[in-house]
Amino acid sequence: MSVFDLVILGGGSGGYACALRSAQLGLSVALIEADKLGGTCLHRGCIPTKALLHSGEIADGARDASHFGVNAQFLSMDMPAVNSYKDGVISKLHKGLQGLVKSRNITYIEGYGKLVAKDTIEVNGEKITGKNIILATGSYARSLPGLDIDGVKVMTSDHATKLDYVPKSVIVLGGGVIGSEFASVWKSFGSEVTIIEGLPHLVPLEDESSSKQLERAFRKRGINFELGTRFKSHTVTADGVTVTLEDGKTFTAEILLVAVGRGPVSANLGYEAQGITMDRGYVLVDDKCRTNIPGIWAVGDLIPTLQLAHVGFAEGILVAEEIAGLNPRPINYDGIPRVTYSEPEVASVGLTTAIAKERGYDVVELNYDLAGNGKAQILRTAGSIKLVAQKDGPVLGIHMVGARVGELLAEAELIFNWEASAADVAPLIHAHPTLSEAMGEAHMALAGKPLHAHG
Ligand SMILES: Cc1cc2nc3c(=O)[nH]c(=O)nc-3n(C[C@H](O)[C@H](O)[C@H](O)COP(=O)(O)OP(=O)(O)OC[C@H]3O[C@@H](n4cnc5c(N)ncnc54)[C@H](O)[C@@H]3O)c2cc1C
Repeated sequence: MSVFDLVILGGGSGGYACALRSAQLGLSVALIEADKLGGTCLHRGCIPTKALLHSGEIADGARDASHFGVNAQFLSMDMPAVNSYKDGVISKLHKGLQGLVKSRNITYIEGYGKLVAKDTIEVNGEKITGKNIILATGSYARSLPGLDIDGVKVMTSDHATKLDYVPKSVIVLGGGVIGSEFASVWKSFGSEVTIIEGLPHLVPLEDESSSKQLERAFRKRGINFELGTRFKSHTVTADGVTVTLEDGKTFTAEILLVAVGRGPVSANLGYEAQGITMDRGYVLVDDKCRTNIPGIWAVGDLIPTLQLAHVGFAEGILVAEEIAGLNPRPINYDGIPRVTYSEPEVASVGLTTAIAKERGYDVVELNYDLAGNGKAQILRTAGSIKLVAQKDGPVLGIHMVGARVGELLAEAELIFNWEASAADVAPLIHAHPTLSEAMGEAHMALAGKPLHAHG
C-alpha cells in the first residue's frame, strides 16, 4: 500500500478541516473516522444545540407576540417536529460534507483506528502509513466521581440533544457555555430550570461584567441558579433525581444534565506507547501543533486549547499548510471569537479586564448600554458592549451581551486582530438601525466623541 502524505485519525472539525486543506494543497490524505464524518460539532454539539435554541427562540416569540401587536399563542412544544427540523439540518450538512471530502479525492476510511507505530495507524486490521500522522480524536463529556450517567435521568449533552420530550424540571450541573445554552433551551421549551455552578459566576471564563448581565437576564427569565457551591451527591428515584450540594441544599428535578466540561479522547489509542508527551490525557503540542514526536501532529479538542469547532478548523488548516511548506503564522488564541448562544447571547474576543490587568496593561474601559441602540429597542433586548483597551492604544477585548450579539463578533474580531484603536474604528459608518451601530457608538464614545450615549 502506498504511503500517504497525511493520515488523519478522527473526522471531526479539526480532522476534516486538515484533510480538506491538505487535499487542496495537492497532498495525499487518508481520513479515518470511527463514527460519523463531522464529529461532535455536527452530530451532537454546535449544530443540534443551535437548532434547539432556535426552536426555543420561536417559542419565546410566540409567548411574547402580544408585545409586538401579533395575536399568537404559545401552546406547547412538539418535540418530534423539533427533532426532525434539527436532524434535517444535521443531515443536510452531513451530506454536503461527505460530498466535499469525496470531491477532494480524500481516502475516507470508516473504522476505529489506533496508533501502532510513529507513522502508522491500524484500522480494520489494516496498516495505514503516512509521512505525517495527525491525531484529531476530539473529546467526550466528562462526569464527576460517583455521578454515573444513565442517559435517562442523568445525562450529558450527547443525550440531551436527542431528548424526545420536554422535561418538567431540570437541574443543570455546570454553568459554563454548554450548561447555560441547555438551561436557555429548556426554559424556552417550558421546563423549570436550576443551574448549579461551583465557581462564583455563570460562563466563568467570560469578563465578569458579561457573566453578571447573563445572570440578571436569566433571573428575569425565571432560570434559577446556585453559584459558588459544589455538587456533593445525588440519588435517582422513580420520579427523578435529587442533588445535594456541599452547603447542604437539595434540589429535585425530573432530569439532571451533567455539563462539567469535556475531556480528551486519548485513552488506549497508542499515543503514550509511541512516546507522545501528554498531560492529563491531552496531547501537548507547540505553536504549530507539532507533538514531541517528529511527524506526529495533534489538533482540536484533543490538545489543551479552547474547545471550539472554529479552533479545530484553524488548527487543522495550520497543520496542513505547515506540512505543505507554506510556513503559516501560529494562531493567536486571544483572537478567537467565543459565543454562548443562550438568550441573551454572550459574545467576546480578546482579553477580559482581569486578564488585561494581569498582563500589565494600563487599561481603560467603556460600557455602551444597548438601551441607546434603536434596533435593540425594536428587538426588546437588553445588554451592552464593553470595550477593554490599552490607554491611548489598541482595543484589547470586546465583550457583548444581548440578543444576536454573536453576529457582531465578525467586526469585533477584525478590530481586535488588526489591533485597531477606538480612534481607528470611530470614523467607520454603521448602518442605522442595526445592532452593529452599538459597536460604532462604543468606539466613538471611547475615542471621546459619543453620539447616542449619556454622560
Ligand atoms: C453540546 C455542545 C455544543 C457545542 N457548541 C459549540 C458551538 O456552538 N461552537 C463551537 O465552536 N463549538 C461548539 N462545541 C465544541 C465543538 O463541538 C468541538 O470543539 C469540536 O467538535 C472539536 O472538534 P475535534 O475535531 O477536535 O473533535 P470531535 O468533533 O470530537 O471529532 C473527533 C472525531 O474523532 C473520532 N474518533 C475518536 N477516536 C477515534 C478512533 N480511535 N478512530 C477513529 N475515529 C475516532 C470521533 O468519532 C469523532 O468523530 C460544542 C460541543 C458540545 C458538546
